[in-house]
Amino acid sequence: MQVLQALSSQGGVARTHSLYAIGVTHTTLAQALSDGTAVKLRKGIVASDADSETATAAWHGGTATCVSALRHYGVWVLHDNVLHVHVPTGSRIHPHPNCSCVTHRSPGRQPFGVMPIREAFIHAARCLTSEAFFAAFESAWHLRLLTRADRARIRSRVPARLKHLIDIARPDAESGLESLLRLRLRAAGIILRTQVNIPRVGRVDFVVEHLILEVDGRLGHADPTSRHKDLVRDARAAEAGYRTLRFDYALVVHDWPQVLAAVLGALYLV
Ligand SMILES: [Zn+2]
Ligand SMILES: [Zn+2]
Repeated sequence: MQVLQALSSQGGVARTHSLYAIGVTHTTLAQALSDGTAVKLRKGIVASDADSETATAAWHGGTATCVSALRHYGVWVLHDNVLHVHVPTGSRIHPHPNCSCVTHRSPGRQPFGVMPIREAFIHAARCLTSEAFFAAFESAWHLRLLTRADRARIRSRVPARLKHLIDIARPDAESGLESLLRLRLRAAGIILRTQVNIPRVGRVDFVVEHLILEVDGRLGHADPTSRHKDLVRDARAAEAGYRTLRFDYALVVHDWPQVLAAVLGALYLV
């Protein structure tokens, strides 16, 4: 068994005895440590990358969980780049001066690495705002990371304010921005149809009455080709009687009142 392969099967961090248990020999591990393929975090614990979040979590004495685990799985997480670590109740938290991590404590035994996604969501219920939880939940569902059993388990373990959001969650949001926009407009009494096919335009993110709402999850400026494609879509939509409004990350996250005002204005509600 290769050391790197064995470590990645355990989330990038493992106790040496658990590596031996899955077939790594003392010789190959010693070789990997000397050539830098693996690094020793502390006695009996090795990692493939000392700078990874899982390695840092193990250095703290625990497992990456909550938003850190969600980011590891590729889930869309609003804000929060701080490390969240789970250390089982009664286990030692190693000193970590000048560190701004968040520690989660609950009973149980966890190996090092990354918390399974459904436990990570249960922990995230404590740290994320309702809408950030909702966006992450829809993102994970869209990425097919949550089975029906996972969703039911998470629902059973989170506070009522989040149960209600899980009940209205859908798997078709393609970015967390879409989830935020839909949830916030819903709070304003505007119910959007999602992923609607419009002849000659194609599939658009949202439709409400004569209005198309598109959310641009791209970072930075769009290239000229996609800009042109957007203009063609908008022109065809206008021909079919629709007006298109486009919003990006900065607008949805940092200037929500402007987004809401635009939608209300376009719907003649103000
Ligand atoms: Zn947390
Ligand atoms: Zn820390």
